Amino acid sequence: MFFENAAQLGHESIHQFHDAATGLRAIIAIHSTALGPAGGGCRLWHYHNEADALTDVLRLSRGMTYKNAMAGLPMGGGKAVIMADPENPPTEELFLAFGRCVESLGGRYVTAEDVGVSVDNMRQVNRVTNYVAGLPPHEGSAGGDPSPWTADGVFLGLRAAAQHRLGSSSLDGLRVAVQGVGKVGHDLCRQLHAAGASLVTADVNQQNVERTQSEFDAKIVTPEEILSEDVDILAPCALGAILDDQSIPQIKASIVAGAANNQLATVEDGQRLRDRNILYVPDFVINGGGIISAALEYMGNKTEDDVRAQIALIPGRLTEIFMTADQQKRPTNVVADAMAESIVAAGPPA
Ligand code: NAD
Repeated sequence: MFFENAAQLGHESIHQFHDAATGLRAIIAIHSTALGPAGGGCRLWHYHNEADALTDVLRLSRGMTYKNAMAGLPMGGGKAVIMADPENPPTEELFLAFGRCVESLGGRYVTAEDVGVSVDNMRQVNRVTNYVAGLPPHEGSAGGDPSPWTADGVFLGLRAAAQHRLGSSSLDGLRVAVQGVGKVGHDLCRQLHAAGASLVTADVNQQNVERTQSEFDAKIVTPEEILSEDVDILAPCALGAILDDQSIPQIKASIVAGAANNQLATVEDGQRLRDRNILYVPDFVINGGGIISAALEYMGNKTEDDVRAQIALIPGRLTEIFMTADQQKRPTNVVADAMAESIVAAGPPA
């Protein structure tokens, strides 16, 4: 199964780790080191089985190759997943064991936070390896929790999409549905509210969703209802594979743009969105803010202003994708994939 999957998506290597003392079960997938060390976060998740964990890490790591390339970073793509044990919450020892796994790869993979993993966890990982980003930053320097930076990039990307599809980058008065109001979704809601957008939110976590109601006057709907809300923009900020042949016909928004990775269940779903005249904003381009922060932190001697300057390039890249897709009458996801693949094929800048 491993070699078949690796060949299909083009992975360089896939590493399984088991630590008897802590019960750690982790997979690290290195998709590409063509542009530099494989960078990508570590996800801690309750997977039903190993096959689900493998599918997730393979898709996510490939996405990181594309994301890093499109963000102009000197990094390849990789990802780690830790299979969470429902009986035992993760411990410091578990993250130390994970850190030793990262160290054993000798720098071919650089880790950071993803869903279920915190800055504190990365600090624990850093006790046994330096191949880690997303650590608490020194005053003014790049680093720390990548989520606010991801939200910044998504917000700028929403404005670029509004400009392209609706003729104005102003979000004032627009209705935006945000699916998933965790770290990124909540920060995005804050920025949207400040920009005058009205919000509809949904989350499986009641506390998170109620916070958006009290802080930003958001209307709350169920996770089932959010995709078909009568809004201008749908912003998926929960988990992947939510855009498919069942959900796409229900969407009323004319723009889909959010932070979640791998929003399309299949490549063909990009065409489905195009057929419905919905502008899909490729996830791995709009959500690159967090990895820009993590990569600049890892490279060293970079400031928050450097991160801001790189994130400010996201809307321009998106507009190029939108215009190329229009000219070539192709779905935006297909255009973005082709752009990323040509950057990787060209190799690192001389
Ligand atoms: P998070 O765990 O803080 O937030 C996710 C939220 O989605 C949670 O509040 C969770 O309860 C909710 N959720 C889960 N299932 C849901 C469902 N079926 N319906 C509605 N809500 C649901 O994670 P995050 O860091 O905010 O990341 C959100 C998404 O963005 C993830 O897909 C992540 O991979 C992606 N992403 C995050 C970053 C980052 O910097 N954090 C960077 C790039 C991409």
